This record gives sequence, C-alpha cells and structure tokens, in this order.
Amino acid sequence: MAYHSKRSKVYHTQNNCPVGKAVKKRNRLPGTGGKKMCNFCKMAGKGMAKKGKKRTVRKKMAKKAKRRRR
Ligand SMILES: [Zn+2]
Repeated sequence: MAYHSKRSKVYHTQNNCPVGKAVKKRNRLPGTGGKKMCNFCKMAGKGMAKKGKKRTVRKKMAKKAKRRRR
C-alpha cells in the first residue's frame, strides 16, 4: 500500500522504509498523492522483493538499557 507524508515530495510503498518510518502518523496519508516514489522504496521494491529479504529490528536493546537506568 502506498502512503506519503503531507510534508514530503515523495510517496512510499515499503513499510520498512526508514524515510517512511520517520513520517509521523498524523502526517501520513494513504495513496501516492501524485508524488514521486521514494528512492529507498524504489530500490527495495526491486531488490528486496526478488530476494524476499525482510528485516525487522526489534527494540530489545532499548528496553534493556532502560531497565539498567538508575
Ligand atoms: Zn520510502
């Protein structure tokens, strides 16, 4: 599903796109908005779709760090 940010000139198709992820939820709109595809999503769409490589980074480390805080 394509989505874009109110404030940017590009749209995204990848959920794991770092640029798309940086978009705040309230600025996020569905669709392409008649914009260009984001460069990362373009590459990801081509490369990753082929290999089926998906990586999700979990925030385990952040949790641990918080715990140790005093
Ligand atoms: Zn993107």
